[in-house]
Amino acid sequence: MHVPPIASSSRYRKQVGTAKTTEASKKRRKNGEQGEFVCVDCGRDFTTKFNLEYHMRSHTDDRPFKCPEPGCQSCFRSKSDCSRHYAKVHNKKAL
Ligand SMILES: [Zn+2]
Ligand SMILES: [Zn+2]
Repeated sequence: MHVPPIASSSRYRKQVGTAKTTEASKKRRKNGEQGEFVCVDCGRDFTTKFNLEYHMRSHTDDRPFKCPEPGCQSCFRSKSDCSRHYAKVHNKKAL
């Protein structure tokens, strides 16, 4: 009953890469707290309605203000959020 550690870990990695990924992450979550607010789009659960609503925005793509910095993927729901990010992260004057 001696299994080399390298062989067992590579086998585990293979399993994680399959469609079982979401199931596995759900199980992992169970020993912690399970949120009662579940996202209808991706099945993620959240402990508060606020967190769920915040998460839902990532699905609805409700962020029309995109950071003008080349290569930056950040988008924002309001122009003030966007310029705050622009000034803070890129160290530039607000738009
Ligand atoms: Zn979701
Ligand atoms: Zn940016």
